[in-house]
Amino acid sequence: MRVALRGGLLAVACAAALASTARADEVILKTGGSIRGRIVSESEQEVVIETGAGPVKVERARIREVTRSPRQPPARTPAAEEDAPAPAPPAATPTRTLLVFAFDGADAALVADAGARAGRVLGVAVEVLPGRPKPDERDMVDRRAQVLQLLARQLELDPGGPSEELERRVRAALRDNPKPAAREAEAVLDGPIPPCLAVERLREQVLALAQARLADASVIGAIGVVGRDMTQKGLNFVFGHAAPNARVGVASYWRFGWREGPRDKVAHRLAVQLLSTTGVLLGLGRCEDPTCVRAFPNNLEEHDRKRAFCAACRPRVEAALRR
Ligand SMILES: [Zn+2]
Repeated sequence: MRVALRGGLLAVACAAALASTARADEVILKTGGSIRGRIVSESEQEVVIETGAGPVKVERARIREVTRSPRQPPARTPAAEEDAPAPAPPAATPTRTLLVFAFDGADAALVADAGARAGRVLGVAVEVLPGRPKPDERDMVDRRAQVLQLLARQLELDPGGPSEELERRVRAALRDNPKPAAREAEAVLDGPIPPCLAVERLREQVLALAQARLADASVIGAIGVVGRDMTQKGLNFVFGHAAPNARVGVASYWRFGWREGPRDKVAHRLAVQLLSTTGVLLGLGRCEDPTCVRAFPNNLEEHDRKRAFCAACRPRVEAALRR
């Protein structure tokens, strides 16, 4: 029995897979991800699948396989209902669900792809839902001011004062600093630093949207995914963030190379981020193993070293999912 040796998570994965095929169509991608929903149209070139986040068009060339759920008749008479087969017995292992919101106009197909990959690793169902269509200006922060304050602290300057004056002092200190990092910081200040989303505000928006669903104990939590840069107080930027007590998290694919692609890589990076953020929702702390999804990455290169839950974190994830 090799299967039994693989442990509890595989059993959960099978239950989740059975549950999902019973009620949804699934487009399985060559990259390993999949998109679940209801197929609404098909041609030789593409398949259109309606997901919780809206219709997603997938080129045939990207598809490995399409599985279809048996169609329910659109309307039933009471007599027909009596003849209907008894509902399937509940799965032996409870199925957990992760809610993922494509927030602020984020690319719903990309979010669905990454969500499906993360769901497979965790052995849970992932529901991709629409978030608000575009960012609210009130949730944006002046990142230039934030970068200046961070640099001021690193250079041991007073981070207070008007921003123009602070920038003059920071630039003067950088000029006198011989380290290569000082040249990099100058280059950052010379370029545009667009406003970005504050995770603290975004998290509240996700919570407001997901609140009713979070009452369901089988729901692990809700993660809002955005295609914009995010920042958190005291940090230059963040890939993701979570508030486990509120069971909400946020993740961004802005720094995952989404403008230049390749798309498959962006989806993979976002899936790793979703796994990390879900890890927080499941009560895991940071991990010292740089290949573990719960490692703290300082940059994209370090993020790309993260592969899976390490041997120490994986049993903790499995245990948390069974609770
Ligand atoms: Zn670990």
